[in-house]
Amino acid sequence: MEETSLNTIENYKYCTECGKQLSTKAAACPNCGAPQQNSESGDDQNGENKFLPALLLCWFAGALGIHRFYTGHTTIGIIQLLTAGGCGIWALIDLILIISGNYKDSDGVTLKP
Ligand SMILES: [Zn+2]
Repeated sequence: MEETSLNTIENYKYCTECGKQLSTKAAACPNCGAPQQNSESGDDQNGENKFLPALLLCWFAGALGIHRFYTGHTTIGIIQLLTAGGCGIWALIDLILIISGNYKDSDGVTLKP
């Protein structure tokens, strides 16, 4: 008798509830049914994604500073509203900042697609 399965060893983890050996791919323990956390957890998304709404608001209503209100920059939004988006130039700069991923909301969170 020859052992031939040595090069096909699977990775195992152990159930957090009953300690039974499980495949790392198991989403739940077949023995006790406890859900198993995947070690490769996703990256932390910081709240809702404001990128697309801010981009659209800046594109269609940039001169009114609506995207500034949306992202929490109320004071700048009012100034943009009064100056028509700095005669459109300010709104254009904001649009470029949003598209290039350099625009931050009032919490300092960068808007990313
Ligand atoms: Zn278990």
